[in-house]
Amino acid sequence: MTETRPFPFSRVCVFGAARSGVGAMYLLRHHQVDVTLVDERPPMEFRSLMRRIKRLFVTAHFGPIKGDVLRGCQAIVVSPGIPLSHPLVQEAVDRELAVISEVELASYFAKAPIIAITGTNGKTTSTILTGQMVADAGFNAVVAGNIGRSFSDAIVSSQEDGRPTMLVTEISSFQLESIEEFHPHVATILNISRDHVDRYPTMREYIDAKFQITLNQDEDDYLVLNEDDPIVMKLAEDTAAEVYTFSLTREVEQGAFVADGRIYLAEDGEIQPLCNISDVPMPGSHNVANTLASIVMARRIGVSTDSLLKTLAKFKGVEHRIEYVATSSDGVEFYNDSKATNVDSLEKALLSFQKPLILVAGGKDKQSAYERLNSLIKERVKGLVLIGEARPLIKKAWGGLVETREAGSIEEAVKIAAGMARGGDVVLLSPACASFDMFKDFEDRGDHFKRAVRAYVEH
Ligand code: ADP
Repeated sequence: MTETRPFPFSRVCVFGAARSGVGAMYLLRHHQVDVTLVDERPPMEFRSLMRRIKRLFVTAHFGPIKGDVLRGCQAIVVSPGIPLSHPLVQEAVDRELAVISEVELASYFAKAPIIAITGTNGKTTSTILTGQMVADAGFNAVVAGNIGRSFSDAIVSSQEDGRPTMLVTEISSFQLESIEEFHPHVATILNISRDHVDRYPTMREYIDAKFQITLNQDEDDYLVLNEDDPIVMKLAEDTAAEVYTFSLTREVEQGAFVADGRIYLAEDGEIQPLCNISDVPMPGSHNVANTLASIVMARRIGVSTDSLLKTLAKFKGVEHRIEYVATSSDGVEFYNDSKATNVDSLEKALLSFQKPLILVAGGKDKQSAYERLNSLIKERVKGLVLIGEARPLIKKAWGGLVETREAGSIEEAVKIAAGMARGGDVVLLSPACASFDMFKDFEDRGDHFKRAVRAYVEH
């Protein structure tokens, strides 16, 4: 691994004071760099942060941007979610400040090797599973990304405790946009599909952002690619790292693949069976793909096959992603897939079950083409319970295909769905919609669903 160069700036503007920006602020102050923290939300939203800001001697500007907030700064750290086209970022560019993402910032200070995971879908699942594999193998695994702490925060708080530290991190394409120093030892691109079109004018730009993940890798590093995804595979010709692949459909030269219902490892010119796909602890072939990617990455840092099998045997899946909740006394299983905020995710969930489904769907509509799933709904769903603002739209698409009921709350939806189900059926919350009409976020929606299910099952 190459050494990163010392951090070259003495005052940095951190733009965005949510989790990632606050993490960046701590990291910079920890390394004696002066910080100007900027956020356009009103000051009253930051009341609880103010004491920490003062204690750290950070200059803060909250509310509409007025005056020269970039004064004295040599760089701006842009939080994920803020487009690079934002006027303040543009002003920074015009004034020739360095524009850096939080991940990029953290890479200056990361001493431990990095495993980096990107892709359109499956990042969180693969990051958590890989983190667990790495931890079970005896590393001090610091997992950062969408779930849990920010990358910067993980670096500040990762204590060396004698064991080798490994940073396992989920990276969005937004964070990869302005990479210069970020240098993962092991990286993967799980898949690339047309998404985030609002932020990327062309698919090419989205792909280019994802490909940045390998920019600084060299021949001592590993790039793990999805052989079932032709767009991802284009990167195999364009990296200095050693390429490993995974596939659900064909034998690969180096990596892991599925054949005859089993997972095989292909390493050092030899092919060995590892386990059955039924040993994968999460439903659906998409989760087999996530598991293959995690296995290949863990193997690259020396995790033994015995240790991998132990992790798979005890892994409980990831919250809100086709998460098993409970089984009622009459044999109905309940699953929470609240993270399914679009039609594609619902499709994945429907394909993950063989048993008859009572589907709880709806929420805030995202102008989705629900009709696309008509035949799958007809084939797999026995009963439909609709919630939220999107009820009329979904009813129009699917109401004529299966028995459909409507509910005013998620608690009511659980009762209605349970009433429609018979032993051996599955009640699945997989909304295909955003949650903001009734809940704070998808986690809040999933938590409400789980509470309602447990209350129902216990009575
Ligand atoms: P991300 O962090 O990239 O959003 P998650 O692990 O949170 O991904 O999974 C989100 C949703 O994406 C899942 O509920 C599922 O519908 C879908 N998904 C997960 N893994 C894959 C995959 N490998 N391929 C395609 N879709 C996937």
